Amino acid sequence: MAQIIPKNLVSVESNWQKELATAFTDPESLLHYLKLDPRQFSEDVAARKLFPMRVPRHFASLMHQQDRHDPLLLQVFPRAAEFDKVAGFTHDPLSEQHNTTPGLLHKYRSRVLLIVRGGCAVNCRYCFRRHFPYADNSPSRAQWDDALTKIAADETINEVILSGGDPLMAKDLALADLASKIADIASVKRLRIHTRLPVVLPHRVDTGLLSWLEALPLQRVMVLHINHVHEISPALVNAVSALKKIGVTVLNQAVLLRGINDSVDTQVALSEGLFDAGILPYYLHLLDKVAGAAHFEVSTGEAKRIVREMLLQLPGFLVPKLVREVAGEGSKSPIDLHCTAD
Ligand SMILES: *Cc1c(COP(=O)(O)O)cnc(C)c1O
Ligand code: SF4
Repeated sequence: MAQIIPKNLVSVESNWQKELATAFTDPESLLHYLKLDPRQFSEDVAARKLFPMRVPRHFASLMHQQDRHDPLLLQVFPRAAEFDKVAGFTHDPLSEQHNTTPGLLHKYRSRVLLIVRGGCAVNCRYCFRRHFPYADNSPSRAQWDDALTKIAADETINEVILSGGDPLMAKDLALADLASKIADIASVKRLRIHTRLPVVLPHRVDTGLLSWLEALPLQRVMVLHINHVHEISPALVNAVSALKKIGVTVLNQAVLLRGINDSVDTQVALSEGLFDAGILPYYLHLLDKVAGAAHFEVSTGEAKRIVREMLLQLPGFLVPKLVREVAGEGSKSPIDLHCTAD
């Protein structure tokens, strides 16, 4: 077995977990922190019972005080509109809840997705997993072994994606152990981590994480999730530069969200800000049609218009691929920018 678990890992103090424990979970206290009048939100807070509110202090510190339309606040604050029932918006838009091996999603040919951990550090209101039954999908150790056996038995799989929830909610010791077992599978050459933690709590990228990632004998890719340039803080820039120093490729995926990042200027600023931080734009997702998130939807026509204009203003490598996820398809579905249907 690859010896990648650094000896000092057990003793590394996990400050990020302490920080995580101080996240805002009560809407009123976040409003108080932002100097916003709770009376303006009295209809909204009830939506926390549909999906709990969770906002790390670092993320809240990037919001503008007294701005009820702050693009970061809008991503995470409960809204009355979440109660609206809108045709076409369902509880399981990607049909993932009938999954056979718990914790393993093998929808695309060369890569599998491992659901390492259910929860996240931040709860994004538009999240397609807001109704996901994580309790049934947080695998036990035996189920891990089962998932790893399945991966090892299929030589077409060359990449394992750690996902969630947020996989970096797991402790480094558990992650290092899992990653070393993945590295032992001969056909796997790449480990990818889909995470929002470095964005909402940059201290997660600590020596514990960096040490096992550096020692891992696989190509390593981290795909962050940043929707707005205000999410790019100096602390995130430091985290990304530490990751790049040990050879991790850092990409970003964003979701196109009404009232948050649905303008050409906002998207251009995001792409420029990402590149300044050493991150390349990868995907811009159309919203998954999950119940409670209809108010975030941007029409496909509007999305195409925005990305066509981005092509005129940015070098090609700073224009993310506009995609939607279609249940049953073998990949993300690229949107044809010049097709005038829908
Ligand atoms: C998005 C996704 C992937 C990764 O797709 P890429 O196009 O390689 O980024 C893999 N598996 C599942 C189930 C996914 O939803
Ligand atoms: S971090 Fe990702 S998985 Fe977690 S709530 Fe936000 S969008 Fe969903």
